[in-house]
Amino acid sequence: MREYVRGMDGSGDIRVIVIGAGMSGILSAVKLRERGITDVVIYEKADRLGGTWRENTYPGIACDVPSHAYCYSFALNPNWSQHFAPGDEIQAYFEGVAREFEVDGLIRFGQEIVRAEWADGAWTVETSDGATDRAQILIGATGVLHHPSYPDIPGLDSFAGASFHSARWDHSVELEGKRVGVIGTGSTAVQITSALIDVVDRFSLFQRTAQWVLPVPNPGYTDEERAAYTADPDGLRILHDDLGQRMTNLVATALIDSESPAMARIEEQCRENLSQVVDPELRMKLSPDYRAACKRLIMSPDFYEKVQSPNLDLVTAGLERIEPTGVRTSDGVLHEIDVLVLATGFQVDRFLRPMEVVGVNGQTLDEAWTPRPLAYLAISVPGFPNLFMLNGPNGPVGNFSLIEIAERQFEYIAQLIDEVRAGRCEGLAPNAGATEAYEQSRVEAAKQTIWMTGCRSWYLDDRGIPATWPWTFDRFRDEMAAPKLEAFDRF
Ligand code: NAP
Repeated sequence: MREYVRGMDGSGDIRVIVIGAGMSGILSAVKLRERGITDVVIYEKADRLGGTWRENTYPGIACDVPSHAYCYSFALNPNWSQHFAPGDEIQAYFEGVAREFEVDGLIRFGQEIVRAEWADGAWTVETSDGATDRAQILIGATGVLHHPSYPDIPGLDSFAGASFHSARWDHSVELEGKRVGVIGTGSTAVQITSALIDVVDRFSLFQRTAQWVLPVPNPGYTDEERAAYTADPDGLRILHDDLGQRMTNLVATALIDSESPAMARIEEQCRENLSQVVDPELRMKLSPDYRAACKRLIMSPDFYEKVQSPNLDLVTAGLERIEPTGVRTSDGVLHEIDVLVLATGFQVDRFLRPMEVVGVNGQTLDEAWTPRPLAYLAISVPGFPNLFMLNGPNGPVGNFSLIEIAERQFEYIAQLIDEVRAGRCEGLAPNAGATEAYEQSRVEAAKQTIWMTGCRSWYLDDRGIPATWPWTFDRFRDEMAAPKLEAFDRF
């Protein structure tokens, strides 16, 4: 083993570079250290950890996975304020975990890795300010919903008022008493609508496609409940596990079998929820023409109540262009607004990019991922030894809690790292045959899922195939339990 890669901290052990200090990056550092790997550094391009919870600060942001399920299994939190925690509380949770497990000191803030190259048994990374670093293992924890997607609407730059993407919220802009327009009706826009409708003067919601909305109440936890969870860690764990299990049984299983009774129940609940919209014309505008959960289900305690507010215009005409004073729709109407919010989602096929990643024989990740990203079990890529991703391409993004996914993926990755750490090889990357066979079966199974039943959504790749895990949670858990080493090339 090459000496200068090993033990730069004097431990004589393997060195690991993690890219990104969001949920998966913090997890990686905690777990690596738990396994006795101390030479770990996290590169974070921003000046604060937290990933998606740092970036998304829009009004109303909350997680629609139950709070007691949306936390690390090794850091349960008795103190959540609500069944679905608001974003700032989740951000504080990750900061607290990083402090408690002393991984905050491993983070190099403001350091963006722009290039990584595999050579001589290790990865050399380069930051935007020209510094370099080297490690045998490179963990990509860069997130999925990270790069904002901006709509291609003529005149967008001509708008005279404040305009920003939902993931780049400008908190200096006063909204009280203003006319606000929001483009999009995804999970983000729905949360913004609920939070702002009673604050603004007028609210124009520009809907291209109607959404199914599952009613999910969001009560607070009482002080007594929080005290009880604090006093009873076993009970808290049972709650965490039960909630995860319930999500799997009620939602995840339904998604992969569009004809299942569980899916029929979801559809029924969504229909019933919609029926509370009193005005038939408004109800018609809000009625999707595709099956519930084909697009990512929206969960909201009160969207249909808020959308009936007298100061809300649901605009369904096509967006023709943006003008200095508002949005001109295809019916010729100019919707005058003071503030324009683009709740238009994310470019979901980027993953590690725009970083330049160079693997074996000079092949770049861009080349390997033309026409689309591909990874064996969503974790690793042929020709890129010891590059492991958490929540990488075609993984279970829409099915289970992203935290549980990352935890299980990490346990799988750790076993690959063990091979290198034990000196049995310098590097591991999946072989092309195993990757191709995996991808073919994934694509076949994906065709049976609810996501393929006829809608446009961010789950679909350029071919219209769902870019996600199409099997059960049990299968995911079993696959993640232990890598099949015969599927890997050794370097
Ligand atoms: P999204 O689901 O991709 O929704 C984007 C919205 O913008 C859609 O309504 C889309 O319309 C519309 N849109 C995009 N381009 C447009 C254009 N050129 N003209 C008109 N409309 C346009 O994005 P998101 O709401 O930010 O949510 C993304 C994902 O983040 C969610 O699916 C979810 O996984 C996650 N999220 C989670 C939570 C949570 O509580 N856990 C909260 C927010 C977000 P079409 O439907 O017609 O494409």
